[in-house]
Amino acid sequence: MTRAPDCLTCRHFFVTWDKRYPRGCRIFEIKSRELPSLVVLRSTGRRCPSYERSPRVDRA
Ligand code: SF4
Repeated sequence: MTRAPDCLTCRHFFVTWDKRYPRGCRIFEIKSRELPSLVVLRSTGRRCPSYERSPRVDRA
């Protein structure tokens, strides 16, 4: 699969509270406007290998 994974359901995703770059990834130390996995896909040409479904998604 080459589609970027959904960072919003990943345990490594966080909201930065920076209006310019509101989406963050702890693994890649990225802050961006778009989903971090899209940044990873574009810069490496590969799907993010570090996606892990967050337990908080299943609790919601
Ligand atoms: S590890 Fe991958 S899927 Fe998870 S937040 Fe970071 S870029 Fe997104």
